[in-house]
Amino acid sequence: MSVLDQNWYSEAFTSEGSAFSLKIKSKLETVKSPFQTIDMYETEHYGNLMVIDDCTMVSTRDNFLYHEMMSHVPLFSHPNPERVAIIGGGDCGTLREVLKHPGVKQVWQVDIDEMVTRMSEKYFPELCESNDDPRATLLFDDGIRFIAEAEPGSFDVIIIDSTDPVGPAEGLFAVDFYKNCEKALSADGLVVQQSESPLYHTHSIIKKVHDDMKSAGFASCHTFPFPQPLYPSGWWSCTLAKKSGLATAFREADAANKTFKTQYYNVDMHKAGLAMPEFMKQALNQD
Ligand code: SAM
Repeated sequence: MSVLDQNWYSEAFTSEGSAFSLKIKSKLETVKSPFQTIDMYETEHYGNLMVIDDCTMVSTRDNFLYHEMMSHVPLFSHPNPERVAIIGGGDCGTLREVLKHPGVKQVWQVDIDEMVTRMSEKYFPELCESNDDPRATLLFDDGIRFIAEAEPGSFDVIIIDSTDPVGPAEGLFAVDFYKNCEKALSADGLVVQQSESPLYHTHSIIKKVHDDMKSAGFASCHTFPFPQPLYPSGWWSCTLAKKSGLATAFREADAANKTFKTQYYNVDMHKAGLAMPEFMKQALNQD
């Protein structure tokens, strides 16, 4: 729920009795697409802010935390990621990071709502700077259908960069969808999903993601916590699952010698993500 009070934008996470506020300079634009309402604000200290259906989505200042973890963790966890599918990701920040990997040959970004990308092109042009890369294909469709109709073994990595598990994204947090991901992935393929707040959702959404991915046939799962001021509790996560091998195994030397710039991700932060807080270890039966 959002409350616009004078010159503050606040998102209340009512079920946990918490809220996050940003001082704003102005409201830039609101558009209603067939799928969701997209509000754009200019803030005093966080640059531009995108809100979808009253949930904060992207800010200029802190989106790097999320986009770098959602892309470099899975890509360095795969032996040779060439074909990548991004489900959601309409702001194009994850796409930009994925395309920094020289070994990537093709990326399909499938967001149900074209309006998100059009608004991001206008207010977050820096996130869209790789959209014309010849390796990128931007599709506007339901990611559930796209993966269900994909040929077996089509992708090496699937990144589920969606909104919260409500509305159009609800089906992206379901066993049937994970089963279709498993089928659409190559034998050494992996999937990563934005998996909400470790503080608020470990015993609910995150536990269910682990259980459902395992019952969909994935061999191993791991949740990587990371800071994300914009999102409820300021602490976020992504959950990675591999068809074969350990979810915690990654190309450490390649990550240490990466050929591109980042602001948060590096080999030490990847290793830090392998360390599991005690309450999460117990809840997720992670050794
Ligand atoms: N970083 C954000 C977060 O963690 O909440 C998510 C970024 S991106 C803006 C989320 C995208 O998921 C939105 O653009 C939305 O349109 C898209 N989305 C939701 N449900 C979808 C579906 N079933 N298929 C494809 N895209 C979907």
